Amino acid sequence: MYMLNDEEKSILETVKRITREKIKPIAAEIDETDGFPWQLVELFTENGLLAPLVPEEYGGIGASRLLFSMILEEISKASASAALLLIAQADGLSPIMLLGNEEQKKKYLTMAVQGKLACFAATEPDAGSDIQAMRTRAIRHEHGYRVNGQKCFITNGSVADFMTLFAYTDPDKKAKGMSVFIVDRETKGIIFGKNENKMGMKGCVNTQLFFEDIEIPLKNRLGEEGDGFICMMKAFEVGRMLAASQAVGLAQGAIDETVKYTKDRIQFGKPIAALEAIQFMLSDMVAGTEASRLLTYQAAYDLDNNDKNRIAMSCPIAKYMASDNAMKVTTDAVQILGGYGYMKDYPVERMMRDAKLIQIYTGTNQIMRLVTAREILK
Ligand SMILES: Cc1cc2nc3c(=O)[nH]c(=O)nc-3n(C[C@H](O)[C@H](O)[C@H](O)COP(=O)(O)OP(=O)(O)OC[C@H]3O[C@@H](n4cnc5c(N)ncnc54)[C@H](O)[C@@H]3O)c2cc1C
Repeated sequence: MYMLNDEEKSILETVKRITREKIKPIAAEIDETDGFPWQLVELFTENGLLAPLVPEEYGGIGASRLLFSMILEEISKASASAALLLIAQADGLSPIMLLGNEEQKKKYLTMAVQGKLACFAATEPDAGSDIQAMRTRAIRHEHGYRVNGQKCFITNGSVADFMTLFAYTDPDKKAKGMSVFIVDRETKGIIFGKNENKMGMKGCVNTQLFFEDIEIPLKNRLGEEGDGFICMMKAFEVGRMLAASQAVGLAQGAIDETVKYTKDRIQFGKPIAALEAIQFMLSDMVAGTEASRLLTYQAAYDLDNNDKNRIAMSCPIAKYMASDNAMKVTTDAVQILGGYGYMKDYPVERMMRDAKLIQIYTGTNQIMRLVTAREILK
């Protein structure tokens, strides 16, 4: 069921090669310096990977969700932060893919393929899990909208060339009064706040954004007024599958490092791989990751087939199972590497810090369980 055709296999081979040759060698440096990896933007653009879901008519490779999942998995084995660059790009483009008219798609999807960055701006200081509590307001006038408000934690926020911005056009209507707009970086009145100093996923920027009387032309509204909330929920479904793919790759990367170490590390006269206690841990790490991978591919397959009944559950389940697994696997990896695991000389401590975010972002794992339960009980 999860088979790729020859062209897709060749794309994945390219991803494996550039991950091995170009991403893995700089993963620790990105973590250490926390600098935004512009060289990866260039690398992904050159290889057609910066916005793989974009259809061929707009210059993309028109990848299936399943292929994109596998691409993210490969990159995350070396650097979850590098994969997050692509996830943030896909999230930012999602509302355009879902609601954009021909003119909007032609302009912005083409830009995204050619190296311009996007971001998805929904979260606010008082509106995280409770996203409907957002206060950013878009007021209609003759030529478009005047927007005031703020966003926080926005991935790629300070480096993006354009954003998809969620705001209320009619707050009294709650979810039905939320709309979504494309906003260009140069728009007067956008103030870029601080980039957050994070525990992990270093190299990925997360920015506070303030909007003071910014003007958005009417042609930059996506869909109709009131389409924002449903668009956001649909974008989240895809985003959760992408986060799950990142978690699967991250867990696999930690397993690969751990297996290698257990064969080399001698204690009590033999490799620690010979110890049953270690073997049982390795088995559980691999079993959990295999299960997460299958859940994630199934969620991607459901998205590719637009199987609405399954998507509502398979995407959140994949996200929380895969990210909880990645947290456990990376924590166990540090444990198995012992004191060395705690040191920055080995990548597993970085992987453990990176894994934590995936349990939180794009909807916390508690919210994922809540959404799943609602679907079970509906
Ligand atoms: C590094 C990073 C990158 C991000 N990137 C983006 C981005 O690009 N764009 C964007 O719009 N947002 C982004 N976010 C925001 C992210 O999606 C939110 O942080 C997340 O949805 C949780 O919101 P919160 O942080 O406000 O936590 P809160 O909603 O305040 O939650 C706090 C705790 O309460 C729990 N909780 C809340 N409500 C419930 C409930 N009903 N039932 C059970 N438990 C509950 C949560 O699970 C959590 O444990 C990012 C966040 C981070 C940290």
